[in-house]
Parts: sequence; C-alpha cells; structure tokens
Amino acid sequence: MADARIVLLPGDGIGPEVIDAASQVLEAVGSEFGHSFRTESHLIGGIAIDETGDPCPSSTVAAAEDADAVLLGAVGGPKWSDPSAKTRPEAGLLHIRRELGLFANLRPVTTWSALVDASPLRRDIVDGVDILFYRELTGGIYFGEATESDDRTTVSNAMTYSVHEIERIVRMAALAARQRRGKLTSVDKANVLAVSRLWRSTTDRVMREEFPDLEYETVLVDAMAMHLLSRPKDFDVVVTGNLFGDILTDEASMLPGSLGLLPSASLGDGGPGLYEPIHGSAPDIAGQGIANPLATILATAMALRHSLSMPDEAHAVETAVERVLDSGMRTADLARGAPYVDTATITAAVTTEIHPG
Ligand code: NAD
Repeated sequence: MADARIVLLPGDGIGPEVIDAASQVLEAVGSEFGHSFRTESHLIGGIAIDETGDPCPSSTVAAAEDADAVLLGAVGGPKWSDPSAKTRPEAGLLHIRRELGLFANLRPVTTWSALVDASPLRRDIVDGVDILFYRELTGGIYFGEATESDDRTTVSNAMTYSVHEIERIVRMAALAARQRRGKLTSVDKANVLAVSRLWRSTTDRVMREEFPDLEYETVLVDAMAMHLLSRPKDFDVVVTGNLFGDILTDEASMLPGSLGLLPSASLGDGGPGLYEPIHGSAPDIAGQGIANPLATILATAMALRHSLSMPDEAHAVETAVERVLDSGMRTADLARGAPYVDTATITAAVTTEIHPG
C-alpha cells in the first residue's frame, strides 16, 4: 500500500473534463491495488490569469514541487489569445516546466491494433509500433543565445549543449531501454554540426562505459525522418535533442493516427514529473462532455510508472484502455461516422476494466 500525493492542474477548455476522468482512473487503481492517492487541484493557464492575473501562480508551483506527480489537462483558448495581452496561458506551462527542472520529455508512440486503420500509413507498417522518445527539453537551439545585426538583416540562434546535459538525458533513455526491448537509437546531425559531434561522442562514451548490454545505434536526423515512416517498428527508445525531438515526435504522432490517444511526460532529476496529453484545450468541444479522455488516462499510467514506481498499476491502466478500444467503444473523434459515447461512458468502461467493483 502506497500513499501518494498528486497535484491536478485541469487548466482550460476540455482540461477539467479529461482531468476528471484521470482522477476516476486513479481512484479505481487505488481500490484495485490498495493505494491511497491524495489529489488536489491548482490553477494554471487562462483560468489562473482570470483568477489571479498570473498563468502559473506561486501557490501552484509550490504545490507541484511538494507532489509525487503532477497531472495537467491543457491550457489556452480564444478568450486569452489577444496578441496584445500582457501574458498568455501557455506561459504558465513553460514556467512550471522550468521551475520543476523538467529536462526530459518522454513521448510514447504506440499503435493500438483496434485503431490501426486510422493511421494514414499502411497497416503492415504501423501495426505493432512501440517507440518511446526521449527529447531533451531545456537546452539546444530553443534556449541558445539569439543575436541580430544592427540593421536587422542577419539573425542567429545558437544551438548549444554541454556534456552534462547530454549525459543526463542519454542515461535516462538508456535506463528505459533496459526495461523495454534493450535498444537505444540516438539521433543527431554529426556529419554537419559541431554540437551534434559532441552529442555523438558523449552518447558513444556513455553507452560504451555504462550500457554495454544494450543494442545501440546512431542515426542522422534526416535519415530518421524517413525511417520513421518506412520502418517504425525497428525502433525501441529514441533519444535526441530539443529541436530534432520536437519535429520527429510530431511526425511520429501521426503513426497511430489519432491525437486523442497520445500522452507525454516531462521529467527532471528526482523531483515530480509532469504528465499531460499532447492535445490542446479543444475549445470547439469544451463543455459538451464528448472529449476523448484516453490520452490523459494514458498520461496517468505514465505517472504511475515513472513517478510512483508502480509498473503493474500502469500496465493495468494501459490494458484497460486497450480492452475498451478492442470492445469497439469510441469517442466522437475516433468514431468516423459510427455511433460514439461520451467522456463519462468511456471513462466508466476503463475504470470498470481496472476495478470491476
Ligand atoms: P487542440 O489539440 O486543442 O485541438 C485540435 C482538434 O483536435 C480540435 O478539433 C479538437 O476538438 C480536437 N481534439 C483535441 N483533443 C481532443 C480530445 N481529447 N478529444 C476529442 N477531440 C480532441 O489544438 P488547437 O485547436 O490548435 O489548440 C486549442 C488551444 O489549445 C490553443 O489555445 C492552444 O494554444 C492550446 N494548446 C495547448 C496545449 C497544452 O496545453 N499542452 C497543447 C496544444 C495546444
């Protein structure tokens, strides 16, 4: 029996609806496995701006720092998209990631056999894909120095990585590979970029000295963009820098064919991880009770696995989602014209699979 504290950040749009589904799943896991999950909700995003003027109030950061894991719905919406506004909901998300030191973004890309025909790619290419990306999240070109010539005709962004930044994400990815199918692919552009040559030599050394038991390969980013579409089943854990990871994970998210099923996790050194669906606040369907909660439920499974050391519980949640999809139950985004159920119905189906009651 474990006692865990989980901070919920529902945010905006469908955020509260999918976070409510995640809380019900946590309750079911608690009942089935005998754990006690203490959840508390805090403000982030547009609603936090409305109530406090700050998209990520210090009380939210303090609660998150004290938690075992943080579950986030989504932030943003038309109400807060005035370009002249002093602050934006998305600033709250960047702020909390930075405050929690979350340098690793994990994005699993898994195809579900019941939904394989939703992919734009052929069934034989995507059926059985199971990739876990580790994208470096707080370094590289997004955080490098930006310069502009006096006449503003020349601009640059520096892509910078230190050995320490590379080592820590590679170690995290390699440890994950050891728990999975034992293969790590590192993606860089070492044939052109000096920063990628440091990435490559550091990764080679860490893998040689600390993970000789793993299968290890390096792939150039341009080639990886092709391989992801032609032979995605060959990859297990993929580690890469911030820019390459941003682009490759978006490309890979099309393999399962549906946004509503993709979770992500952001992790740091030891502190709480932040878990969220990759989709946004879907203002077009907010308040209608028809959002697909499965990405957030799968993000909850990631929290159980990565922050709470509960692999069996995580597996139970993932198996429950798979069974519900296999049963044919679909939310509107997946139904393709067929009958569909609402958020509450599919959530109840998942919780019943986890804890029949
Ligand atoms: P979106 O992901 O919110 O929606 C894109 C489309 O997918 C919409 O038609 C929406 O209805 C549908 N959709 C998304 N999630 C769904 C779900 N769970 N179930 C059913 N349908 C779903 O992207 P957008 O429309 O570009 O952005 C809307 C707002 O969300 C913007 O303010 C944007 O800045 C914000 N956003 C936030 C995050 C985040 O919080 N991490 C991420 C992306 C976008």
